[in-house]
Amino acid sequence: MTQNTQQFASDNYAGICPEAWAAMQDANQGYVPAYGDDIWTTKASDAFRTLFETDCEIFFAFNGTAANALALASLCQSYNSVICSAVAHVETDECGAPEFFSNGSKLLTVPTQGGKLTPEAIRSLATGRSDIHFPKPRAVTITQPTETGQVYTLEEIRAISAVCRDLGLRLHMDGARFANACAALGCSPAEMTWQSGVDVLCFGGTKNGMAVGEAILFFDPKLSEGFDYRCKQAGQLASKMRFLAAPWVGILESGAWLRNGRSANAAAAHLAGQIRPLEGLELMFPVEANAVFLKAPAALLDGLREKGWRFYTFIGGGARFMFAWNADLAQVDALAEDIRQLHAAL
Ligand SMILES: *Cc1c(COP(=O)(O)O)cnc(C)c1O
Repeated sequence: MTQNTQQFASDNYAGICPEAWAAMQDANQGYVPAYGDDIWTTKASDAFRTLFETDCEIFFAFNGTAANALALASLCQSYNSVICSAVAHVETDECGAPEFFSNGSKLLTVPTQGGKLTPEAIRSLATGRSDIHFPKPRAVTITQPTETGQVYTLEEIRAISAVCRDLGLRLHMDGARFANACAALGCSPAEMTWQSGVDVLCFGGTKNGMAVGEAILFFDPKLSEGFDYRCKQAGQLASKMRFLAAPWVGILESGAWLRNGRSANAAAAHLAGQIRPLEGLELMFPVEANAVFLKAPAALLDGLREKGWRFYTFIGGGARFMFAWNADLAQVDALAEDIRQLHAAL
């Protein structure tokens, strides 16, 4: 396979979607003020307020690690803790950034099914200790959809936020693939977040079809106090902010954000449908968003690699296929055909 062949190892192997690209090009004209005092930043923030049907505070960061880490840091004192799933990106893939940017707030992990926290697990961890020796729980973070592609239902989010309110915890949502979750549930962004009790959302732009960029949305403006300074201190304040903001205008105003999520999810469903009938192969997790985890004999996985397919096996040893906004169903069929052939030869 050539370098240009579409691969499904990660949803950020894909390029930039046309709507984001066009907005970048529109923004690439003339001279505008720096550091966010520009029309594109205003337009992007307004587009978020329109989409979320609320007057939230919006900030832009270069990547999801910074967005998550700074958002969690803003909810905590250094002696606080954050409850998360043991497979949460903040725990396993951010190199300690949440602890670093919060000056020591500890992540408290819970073993989970498919990465989903439950109200019971949160309550039990948050109330298990209340003495001075334990880092005082202050926030909960959920990943929507989870790292293995499970989608919290609105009822599940509401049940979690109810426990959070009861225990005085703030609720953060890592929405690196937020659009995929909205597409999967068919609900509005408002329903998924503030109407279900989410305090802060990190909305992923990169995996949704942008070159770079995540947005941090504070639904309770009080929580965002000083967040602009946090971003600057962490090296996340873009001087040419218009180029971080413009692609959001492009994908939000055109509806591409949701179309992109839908087509990625459809590609995952398309592959899963072709794997299910194959005896001896197993989908490790329900396919609810844009991820497919395939458990198969080593010979089959080796065979796929030999045929040029790229994939990661860092979660549970199975092959992870992650579909992007531009996943081509013909290429998904080519992958499925190779899986079928290798399966027949087992
Ligand atoms: C990709 C991803 C992020 C962001 O990762 P960066 O590489 O820092 O942009 C955050 N959370 C989850 C669940 C992700 O999959």
